[in-house]
Amino acid sequence: MKQVASIKKKRICKFLHCKRILSIYNPEIYCYAHQRKADNKKSYHKL
Ligand SMILES: [Zn+2]
Repeated sequence: MKQVASIKKKRICKFLHCKRILSIYNPEIYCYAHQRKADNKKSYHKL
């Protein structure tokens, strides 16, 4: 049997200027460092 790599394309953190590659186990669009910041922004609700 052939081993098929089922890993999807590398995803990169959507945070501005961040080029961190997301873990395949991370379902978020931000890297771990920026998930919190994104959450903070939400709570501030500042636009
Ligand atoms: Zn990031």
